[in-house]
Formats: sequence, structure tokens, C-alpha cells
Amino acid sequence: MIQLTTAATLENAINKARTVKPLVRIAKFGSYTVTNKATGATYAVTCIKREGKRFAHCTCKAGERGQACYHAAAAVGAHIVLAAERAALNF
Ligand SMILES: [Zn+2]
Repeated sequence: MIQLTTAATLENAINKARTVKPLVRIAKFGSYTVTNKATGATYAVTCIKREGKRFAHCTCKAGERGQACYHAAAAVGAHIVLAAERAALNF
């Protein structure tokens, strides 16, 4: 689990995501698959909120060790947009 506190937590991972530009697919709200289009490697990222704290989990090796990876960064980016849309639509 990667605890998401400040933007700095994911800064390096966000920069890598901007370079790699992985494909993020939405399985459902909070569950995403992230694919490196160059290698085809696909990982599952889950975004959860527990006791007011936000976490992301990725199934890649770095993610399993609790390190911020670019898969999580890419999925969190999509999750933030979805969450904002849901809030705007009052779901
Ligand atoms: Zn990952």
C-alpha cells in the first residue's frame, strides 16, 4: 500500500507516468488496470480511502513493496478526475 499524503509522495512516479504514458482502463470506480503500451505489462491498481486516509495499491513489484510506482500515479490521476465528476454529479 502506498499512502497518498502530499503530491510530493507521487512526484517521481508522476514524472515517469508522463514519460511512459501508460494506458489506464477503469474496471470500476477505484479499480484500474494500467498497461505499459511498449511492453504490454499490465498491473492492477486499487485506490481506497480508509479512515480518511487515501491509499493506492499496485500489483507490480515496486507497488507490492509499498513504493510509489508510475502505474499507481497514472491510476490515481484518473481516479481524481472520476471522483471529481462523481462529486459534481452528486452521486
Ligand atoms: Zn505499479
